[in-house]
Amino acid sequence: MGRPPRLGGEAVNPPVVLSATYQQGGARTYGRDDNPTWEALEEVIGALEGGKATVFASGLAAIAAVLDTLPVPGHVVVPTDAYSGTRRFLVDAAARGRLQFRTVDVSDTEEALRACEGFGAGGLLWLETPTNPMMAIADMDALIAGAHELGFEVVVDNTFATPLLQQPLDFGADAVVHSATKFLSGHSDAVLGAVVTRRDDLEEELARRRSLHGAVAGPWEAWLVLRGVRTLDVRLERAQANAGELARRLDRHPAVVSVLYPGLPSHPGHDLAARQMRGFGAMLSFEVSGGAVVAEAVAAGVQVLTAATSLGGVETLIERRARWEGEERLPAGLLRVSVGIEDIEDLWSDLDRALAVAVAPPG
Ligand SMILES: *Cc1c(COP(=O)(O)O)cnc(C)c1O
Repeated sequence: MGRPPRLGGEAVNPPVVLSATYQQGGARTYGRDDNPTWEALEEVIGALEGGKATVFASGLAAIAAVLDTLPVPGHVVVPTDAYSGTRRFLVDAAARGRLQFRTVDVSDTEEALRACEGFGAGGLLWLETPTNPMMAIADMDALIAGAHELGFEVVVDNTFATPLLQQPLDFGADAVVHSATKFLSGHSDAVLGAVVTRRDDLEEELARRRSLHGAVAGPWEAWLVLRGVRTLDVRLERAQANAGELARRLDRHPAVVSVLYPGLPSHPGHDLAARQMRGFGAMLSFEVSGGAVVAEAVAAGVQVLTAATSLGGVETLIERRARWEGEERLPAGLLRVSVGIEDIEDLWSDLDRALAVAVAPPG
């Protein structure tokens, strides 16, 4: 997939096509509308999710394109802890009368469907599962079927799970969005987004939005993501094993109040996640006793992990989410960890030491 034709002498990898325009007389016209390197990546992401992919300049550009397809005023139901950029976009659009939105706990199917029903006349149900950073699990079967009955379309932001752990289109979702910046790319070196759908009308509309907005991916970024996605399976397997082990060890740590990881049997969404996912992923959050001060000290004290936002790379990242404006509603002592592929004992000894120092600073 996404490779040159199988012919003797052909390169194994597709080229990075750096061309702003194309010679007259063919299917491609201009660099804002078409690019062969995008097409190679779209072939791969589309195959992974089981639909047709359109790549965008970033995950948020992909999200904006989807939301821009709604009539004015659009009706949107989103998870309370949806990705912060998605919420900022909705707040901005709502302030200008372009749409109305309601936030719900997506792990509560009835509450989510009641919110859809409350709009009366159809709209869009936006799902994340697991959610960011509270790791709530949404029942995709029940929510997608229920929302469709109410005349709602359903879009799933599948950035956390990746298509290897769940394929929302198979559950009936109208579209899947990705921040390919994260796990698909896997090396924290490119910003890119994608939407995947089986609906030809939606695919055409999204490609049209991409040209209208000029929200195009750079060919070089598309190539980097294409290279990264080749190793998604092996990266995820290791990162997920590390995440499970860290979750179990953190769960027993005296300085930790709670661990949010769907792989733990104590997680309220554990059974549902076991049913609808092929693995529990490489993201986890945990709350330390001592609130913001201790959590910031943990982030400042790590040496193997890196204190930074973002996720999905080979390196483990940790951050206190409530440090961001608009995220104050989150527990002050909550740290989110994007678990990477380092040696598990290196990760654990670093985290364990940073926790000890944060709880009882020397001197
Ligand atoms: C990062 C992220 C986005 C936004 O993607 P960008 O590539 O940063 O624009 C959207 N959804 C989720 C779940 C994310 O983690």
